[in-house]
Amino acid sequence: MRYVVCFALLLWLLSGCTKETTPPDENRLQEIRFMLDSTKCMNRMEDLDFLIVDAALADTAFAGGMPPGIPDSLMRCPVSQAAYVCSVTTTFCRIECLSGHGVLEDEY
Ligand SMILES: [Zn+2]
Repeated sequence: MRYVVCFALLLWLLSGCTKETTPPDENRLQEIRFMLDSTKCMNRMEDLDFLIVDAALADTAFAGGMPPGIPDSLMRCPVSQAAYVCSVTTTFCRIECLSGHGVLEDEY
């Protein structure tokens, strides 16, 4: 009886070795990559927005435009390195990634 169990176990193990694994769906992988890139980019845009709004609110004479002192490294998409398109007024900030990762709009 013990040999029968061992033989059955051996057959079960061998059958597991011959199963083909399904390759991951490339479209799904691309979706996941894009989602991760977009999240990374949006995090950078939020950091940039925070600095812009902080500088704008601290400056009582702020008349719009990019406040001085914003690091150049924050003005670019961390994935594509493309420069963000920014529109900053006295009450509104809009940051857009031209790589398609999204737009951040903030009213203050
Ligand atoms: Zn981006």
